[in-house]
This record gives sequence, C-alpha cells and structure tokens, in this order.
Amino acid sequence: EKTVVLITGCSSGIGLGLAVRLASDASRRFKVYATMRNLAKKERLLECVRGCHASTLEILQLDVTDPLSLAAAAQQVQEQRVDVLVCNAGVGLMGPLETCSFQAMKTIFDVNVFGTIGTIQAFLPGMKRRKAGKIIISSSVGALQGIPFNAVYCASKFAVEGLCESLAVILQQFNVHVTLIECGPVNTSFLANLQRTDAEGSALQGLDPQTRALYSQYLQHCQSLFRDVAQDTEEVLQVFLEAICAPCPPLRSFTTQFFMPLTRLKLTSPDGSEYVRAMHKFVFSAGEAQAAAGEFAPCSSGSPEGAGVSQPHLFVSETRGCCTRAA
Ligand code: NAD
Repeated sequence: EKTVVLITGCSSGIGLGLAVRLASDASRRFKVYATMRNLAKKERLLECVRGCHASTLEILQLDVTDPLSLAAAAQQVQEQRVDVLVCNAGVGLMGPLETCSFQAMKTIFDVNVFGTIGTIQAFLPGMKRRKAGKIIISSSVGALQGIPFNAVYCASKFAVEGLCESLAVILQQFNVHVTLIECGPVNTSFLANLQRTDAEGSALQGLDPQTRALYSQYLQHCQSLFRDVAQDTEEVLQVFLEAICAPCPPLRSFTTQFFMPLTRLKLTSPDGSEYVRAMHKFVFSAGEAQAAAGEFAPCSSGSPEGAGVSQPHLFVSETRGCCTRAA
C-alpha cells in the first residue's frame, strides 16, 4: 500500500520539488496530494512530473489561510487518510520593524502560524484515530534564533516551533511523529516571494539614518549568504525524505550545520547576551572578522559586492566573555 503524503505550497520551491520527487519515485511508494493556493500555477508541477504514473499524483487547491478551502481539500483526500502531512506553505517579511504594516504582519501570521495550525487541525483527528502519522514542517534557522530585520518572520516561525514541540509531547502516545526540518537559506524563489517593506521605495524615508544604514548592510549580508551558503533544493529534499521514511523521525532535523555555532549559544549562554553579540558581528562585521582570522568563506573570491560570508564560529569564540557594546 502506498504512503499517502499531502504537501502544502507546491507551486514552487521546496513543496514543488518534494511533490515531484515523491510522485516520481521509481518504486511508486507514494501517493502525493500536491496542494497549492492558486491552481493556475500547476503547469510547472505538471511539467516536472511529465511521464510519471497517474496513480502517484493528485493536485488539489488549498489556501492554508482559508478554513473552507482546508475543509474542501480534506474531503477530497481518499478515505481522508493522510499518512504524512507536510506543512510547507510559508512567506517571509523583511524590513525594519517600524516599516512593517499591520496588514503585512497579519498576512505572515495568517499563512505561517494559523495556516500551519489549521492544516494540522484538519488532518490530526484521522492520524490519531489510525494511531499512525507524520507531520513534517518546513521550518527554519530563523525559527530557532532571531535574525535582524526578519523579526516578524522569525516570530511566526518561533511560534510554529512552540506549537510543534507542545504537540509532540502528546502525539507520541498516538504514534504520530512531528518533525521540524530546520532549513538555512535554500535556493528557491523564497527571497523573490517574500515581502520587503521597502518594496515601495518610500517606506524607509521616515526611518532614522542609523537603522537605514544597518538595513542596507544587512541586505548585502543576506545577498552574500544566499550566494555563498544557500543549499540547493535537492540537498534539502533529502532531509525531508529521511524524515518521511524513518520509522521514528526526531522532533528536529537540520539541513545544514552551518549555523550551529550560533544556534548552540542559546544553550551555552542562556541569558542570550552572547547570541546577540555574535549575531551582530556575524551580520555587521563579516569583512573585518575574516581579515582578522585570515579566513575566507567559500565562493567569496571574485565577488564585486564586498566580503563574502564568514563562518559563524569565528564570532562565537571571539565574543565569549566580551562585554563591550557593539559600535
Ligand atoms: P517558495 O516561496 O518557493 O515557497 C513557498 C510556497 O508557499 C509558495 O509556493 C507559495 O505559493 C506558498 N504559499 C504562500 N501562501 C500560501 C497560502 N496561503 N496557501 C498555500 N500556499 C501558500 O519558498 P520555499 O523556500 O520553497 O519555502 C517553503 C518553506 O520553507 C516556507 O515555509 C519557508 O518559510 C521555509 N524556508 C525557506 C527557506 C529558504 O531560504 N528558501 C529557509 C528556511 C525555511
């Protein structure tokens, strides 16, 4: 019998890639319900799975922010049985907090938080009844640690961590496994799709010059980060596949170890001050640290736009015990 997998947000990126990968599995182990908010965008998916067996893929409309759409999608699933639920739909919001409109923030929470909760609510009763199931979440390094100018996005992703960690405690009794896949930057259209508060140009005008300067530095860092350390979707999909196929996948699974030195600071320095210092340096003084350490990030050579990304551990060891205020 096939493993039934339902995935949200399949019109692009990780969701699209995962749907294609599972639907074209050589042994036809999976039946995939690839869902997307806007069915007009299904062409890309259809093109990628061309020639794949009709019994392995079905495309459904599903807007995770719409309870009616959720209920309708759940109705269309055969016997309403989903073995693996992949909550992948998500959007980003980037910009100084003062420039984030209430509407933009609400949209992020509607999709990332309430959308994820609603999707889980729709399929959890069936999993509990059958005493079997997996819930897999496209989570983020930004769900475990704060990232400057991504405060609202991180807040939404932190929320999902709290949700899933809480659920996991109960669900083990029902043989339902919750797994957060912690992704670093991935080469998808996520950056292009995320909302930027400065998209309209005028948004930053009322902002103080210091924040404006920091934001422009951050944007460079972000660009370097995606250029130098972003993972290919295929690499990330491997981690999803492992979670889907493992009998007892863990609560968290990391696609990359790159940010681990920063992530660990939460445990080794629980008061948070080390993390704040290290992250500040990682983002805002990358060039200096590299020069001091005589190290260069992979691929940083030949980049015309300033220094590449430094290894996070440089900032962790350097900053330990340091009490000076960031300049
Ligand atoms: P993406 O923008 O290609 O994919 C996000 C998908 O979610 C899109 O297909 C979009 O249409 C869909 N979506 C948005 N609102 C929706 C709604 N209301 N209902 C249904 N679908 C909706 O980017 P991606 O990188 O593939 O992102 C997938 C997930 O991975 C997101 O949750 C994102 O937060 C997470 N993630 C991405 C990165 C990265 O760098 N790409 C890093 C960490 C985590």
